[in-house]
Amino acid sequence: MEKKIPYKIYLKEDEIPKQWYNVRADMKNKPAPLLNPGTHKPMTFEELRPVFCDELVKQELDDNTAYFDIPEEIYNFYKMYRPSPLVRAYCLEEKLQTPAKIYYKFEGNNTSGSHKLNSAIAQAYYAKKQGLKGVTTETGAGQWGTALSMACSYFDLDCKVYMVKVSYEQKPFRREVMRTYGASVTPSPSDTTKVGRQILEKYPGTTGSLGCAISEAVEVATENEGYRYVLGSVLNQVLLHQSVIGLEAKAALDKYNITPDIIIGCAGGGSNLGGLISPFMGEKLRGEKDYDIVAVEPASCPSFTRGKFAYDFCDTGMVCPLAKMYTLGSGFIPSANHAGGLRFHGMSSILSQLYHDGYMRAVSVEQTAVFEAAQQFARVEGILPAPESSHAIRAAIDEALKCKETGEEKTILFGLTGTGYFDMVAYQKYNDGVMTDYIPTDEELQKSFDSLPKVD
Ligand SMILES: *Cc1c(COP(=O)(O)O)cnc(C)c1O
Repeated sequence: MEKKIPYKIYLKEDEIPKQWYNVRADMKNKPAPLLNPGTHKPMTFEELRPVFCDELVKQELDDNTAYFDIPEEIYNFYKMYRPSPLVRAYCLEEKLQTPAKIYYKFEGNNTSGSHKLNSAIAQAYYAKKQGLKGVTTETGAGQWGTALSMACSYFDLDCKVYMVKVSYEQKPFRREVMRTYGASVTPSPSDTTKVGRQILEKYPGTTGSLGCAISEAVEVATENEGYRYVLGSVLNQVLLHQSVIGLEAKAALDKYNITPDIIIGCAGGGSNLGGLISPFMGEKLRGEKDYDIVAVEPASCPSFTRGKFAYDFCDTGMVCPLAKMYTLGSGFIPSANHAGGLRFHGMSSILSQLYHDGYMRAVSVEQTAVFEAAQQFARVEGILPAPESSHAIRAAIDEALKCKETGEEKTILFGLTGTGYFDMVAYQKYNDGVMTDYIPTDEELQKSFDSLPKVD
């Protein structure tokens, strides 16, 4: 007999995974290596050491070790907010009148409000263990900066955050949360760095982008003794840490012998999606199981669906290593009316390779449709979702509605990455009916593709 599935499937504290899973170990085509922007040769351990702390460089470069032990200090921190619940969306299913079974893994139950804490705590820990004074980083909407501030205060590390100027101005409360945890927050581009001053000169009045903020944070890390740079998404190490999401989700589903047919996640730089799908993708890569894996991105920043698979800079200042990824070009800045997050021009190299090799697909959605889904979800499931997460909700609802038409009882799993309490300006626009959609033209994209670095 089928066991009755509870509304929430909780793991016990000692069922939090003890190891992270590195999906690269099961990939036949490994993600392309980071390249030195000057020589176009693969970045070595020695070259990456001034930027990232040693243990994280090792994780970044390791394509073969399948499992990494989670150090006890990190595990103890995880216990403060993990395991995170896997929720059966009974109320949403009822509302949609769909035969589909919908589950979501909710990562918003911590003060930072998103999954980003899973990697922030790991990156802060390795910096502390190496005896560093502090770390620098960028933040867009502010979730990553908040997560890192929390992690740094836990390990007593200094934390310097460069926050995209438009968010700094629109989200003063995010800024204050970071300062409460002891971080210093600078709007980017700023005149505190060489690269910031160059960008301001080239684009006066710019409201900034993640790419600009990354350049500034990297400069500060490499020019200050005892500091390293940390990044909240895109990198292989971040996907590794985020595998805790997928491992927990799989363990919870396994308790009730549930196998998802479709796995959906929003994709900005790819870290939550990469983390959620890791163990499932591992099975797919090893030929054990098949899943329909879907990345959801904004139509206004469509890296997978309209980008090029090419080497590109991760930052606007072109100081970072080159990564091979689906990209819109490092000069791409999403339209200012785009309120839904997921603004990064590129994408994780791991996910880019998997997408290129046909192991997953991608869809793009427009922001008014995303907020419509967010509102519908909030009204029946109770949680006020982050706009980023709501991209996944949109796609999950669309799949559930397809099931309603065909009568298929598919099982859908999606990642609900966070809460949207600091995104109320965007919700306000939607509620007031003044939110618009913007889709970049081919000409606009071509302009930014023209500046892709030539790498052979
Ligand atoms: C940062 C963020 C994302 C997007 O980042 P990924 O690296 O693609 O996961 C999605 N949802 C929330 C709530 C975030 O804070």
